[in-house]
Amino acid sequence: MSTTTSEGGAAPALTAKDFKGKVSPDWCPGCGDYGVLACIQRASAELGIPPHRVVTVSGIGCSSNLPGYIATYGMHTLHGRSLAVATGVKMANHELTVLATGGDGDGYGIGGNHFTHTARRNVDLTYIVMNNQIYGLTTGQVSPTSLPGMKTKSTPFGNLEPQYNPITSAIMNGATFVARGFSGHGNHLVELIKKAIGHRGFSVVDVFSPCVTFNHDNDFKFFRDRVRKLEDEGHDPSDWKAACEKALLWGDVIYTGHFFEVDRPYLDAQEPVLDKGGALSHRKLGLTGEQATKVLQKMM
Ligand code: SF4
Repeated sequence: MSTTTSEGGAAPALTAKDFKGKVSPDWCPGCGDYGVLACIQRASAELGIPPHRVVTVSGIGCSSNLPGYIATYGMHTLHGRSLAVATGVKMANHELTVLATGGDGDGYGIGGNHFTHTARRNVDLTYIVMNNQIYGLTTGQVSPTSLPGMKTKSTPFGNLEPQYNPITSAIMNGATFVARGFSGHGNHLVELIKKAIGHRGFSVVDVFSPCVTFNHDNDFKFFRDRVRKLEDEGHDPSDWKAACEKALLWGDVIYTGHFFEVDRPYLDAQEPVLDKGGALSHRKLGLTGEQATKVLQKMM
């Protein structure tokens, strides 16, 4: 796909290299997050979105370092707060493609409140969660998606808590696109991310992205032996009941794929202030420099 230059001519097609950041990831060798980063870069290039039209926002954690490794605008924010900041970015300039990225502890634990309400509001952004079922950055504590019985530094006698299900939670809270991928199935994950970015509304892609250093229970082999793609089984993403039933399965078969999608008005399309006049960030404030300074001083 070609993009257009400011002179109106066709620009060369984008490649994943156009999204390569100046800093190389410092993740452990073999970490699943490498595959997810590569898939986001490939998907963005294949969609032909110029890097300067994309903002990548993250929280805290190994995977939340991702905005430093991709050549889009980016913000590395507070623990669990990526969706709150990403919502602010989208409302300030709804013409941008906004991606939020992070891990299961950051997004489903510390940021659980924001996950619920971003889904309910149906904000038009894409949330890619690198789900390794453990807190990796802090060297291996139990997370909301850890399996019951799992022994970690914080659960030496085994995890007592049930596993959080991000797919059913996203659907029940109102997310309008819900998918799950696996870092070891790159081509499939690229297609899911492309669909998610193309969807208008809150799109969630939960990705099995193994932590090879601290989670030896759920490694690449664990998922390779169990993962089946919904696309191979004729699943209908408009059927929310079937989506939930498939999402609840966790055993010899664990499904990845496009679980659920529905059209529902998204937040920035309903906000009357954004109706005309373009992005808020490009509008004139209607204040003199002196007035603007006074307002800022009052707020400090
Ligand atoms: Fe990846 Fe785990 Fe290493 Fe963090 S600790 S970089 S999640 S392998």
